[in-house]
Amino acid sequence: MTDFAGLSLAQPILRAVADEGYSTPTPIQGNAIPPLLEGRDLLGVAQTGTGKTAAFALPLLHRLAGSAGAPLHKRPRALILAPTRELASQIDESLRCYSRYLGIRSTVVFGGTSIRPQIRALAQGKHVLVATPGRLLDLMKQGHVRLDAVEVFVLDEADRMLDMGFIGDVRKIAAALSRRRQTVLFSATMPKSVQSLADSLLNDPVRVEVAPTATTAERVEQRVLFVPKDKKRALVGELLADTGIERVLIFTRTKHGADRVAKHLHQGGVRAEAIHGNKAQNARERTLRDFRDGRLRALVATDIASRGIDVDGVTHVINFELPNDPESYVHRIGRTARAGAAGIALSFCDHEERAALRVIERTIRQRLTVVEDHPYHVAEIANDPIPAKRNPRQRRHQGQRRRNAQHTSRPAGKAA
Ligand code: AMP
Repeated sequence: MTDFAGLSLAQPILRAVADEGYSTPTPIQGNAIPPLLEGRDLLGVAQTGTGKTAAFALPLLHRLAGSAGAPLHKRPRALILAPTRELASQIDESLRCYSRYLGIRSTVVFGGTSIRPQIRALAQGKHVLVATPGRLLDLMKQGHVRLDAVEVFVLDEADRMLDMGFIGDVRKIAAALSRRRQTVLFSATMPKSVQSLADSLLNDPVRVEVAPTATTAERVEQRVLFVPKDKKRALVGELLADTGIERVLIFTRTKHGADRVAKHLHQGGVRAEAIHGNKAQNARERTLRDFRDGRLRALVATDIASRGIDVDGVTHVINFELPNDPESYVHRIGRTARAGAAGIALSFCDHEERAALRVIERTIRQRLTVVEDHPYHVAEIANDPIPAKRNPRQRRHQGQRRRNAQHTSRPAGKAA
C-alpha cells in the first residue's frame, strides 16, 4: 500500500492527516481516493471502522480547496447525508480535522435540537453541509438552504438510511441537486433496495469494496458466556471488576434495559452511562464526549443509538443480549478493533438466545470461544438441544456440536 503522499492530495490535507497520526491509507482509502480525485462517482461497500469517512472526505476537500473562494450564502458546494445525528456530528468533526489547514468551512444540521443556529450558520455560508434527511428537508422548505450549487453529494450508510425509513426524504433531496455533480454512496451492505437507489443516483460508478464481515470478525477475539437471564446484570458487574476492561461498549436490546444496566454498574462504582433515543440530544452528546475522553468507562447503548459511534480505544464490547440478526452482531463487535487495533467481544447467551448464537456462528463461520470461568456459568445452556424444528442431518451433527461446546475456557476479559 502506498503512503498518503502517493495519493496526490493537497499539502494542507496531508499535513492534517499526519497530525491525526495516520501513516498508511486503509484499504478503502487506497482504493476510493484515486477515482474520487478523478471526479468519478463511487459506490463504496464498507462499514464504519474501515476509514470510510476519510475515504470520501479527503478527495472532497481536495476538490473544494482547488477553487475555494468565500462560501456562498445558503448554498453549500458539498452535501453529506447521514442517517443519525451522531454519525452526522462525527463526520463534521472529521471534516474539521482534515480541513484544519484549509479555508474550508463546514457545518452540521440535524433534528431534535434548535433550528435557529443552523439557519444562522447556513446564512453565513458554508462550503460543506453535513445533514440528516428530515432536518435538511425542513430547512429547504423554509428557504434556508439551496442545493443547486452542490458539486459533491455523499450518501453515507445508505442501508441504514433505508432501514430507518428515509428513502422518500433521500429521493426528494436528490431531486433538488444539480445533475452535474459527483455522487458517492457508501453502504455496509448491498441489499437490492440499496442497489436500486445506487442505480438511480450514480453515474457509471467505480465500485470499491472491503470485505468487512470477515476481517472485522477475525480481528476481534470473540467469546460467549452462557448465563441465565436473571444473572446477566450480576455478571456484567463481575466482569467490570476486572480493570483490564478499560473502555467498554455494552449493547442491550431495549432502551429500558440500557438504563437498568447503566444504573446497576453505577451503583457498583463503575463510571457508566446509557445512550439511546429517549435521551435529549445534548445529554447524548455529553455522554459520548465523556466516553471518548475517558471520563466514562462503560457506555451502554441500543443498536440504533450506537450507529456511527466512532470512539477509538474501545477495548471490549459486551453483548448483554444477543441481536437477532448477525449483521448487527458484526456491527457491534466492529466497535472494538477499530483501524487495525485488536479487541475483545463478550456475548452473553441465555437459554432463549441459543438459536441467535447459532445463526451468528454460522454467518461468521466461526465458533465463539466458550468462557466457563465465571460465577454464573450454566453448562446446560450450551448443551441443551435447541427446541426448534431440526432436520435429520442437523440431529446427526449434534453430538459433535456438544463436544465442540466444551471448548477450552479462558478468563473473560483478558486478551489471549
Ligand atoms: P471510519 O470508518 O471513517 O469511521 O473510521 C474509523 C477510525 O479509523 C476513525 O477513528 C479514524 O480516525 C481512523 N482512521 C481513518 N483512517 C485511518 C488511517 N489511514 N490510519 C489510521 N487510522 C485511521
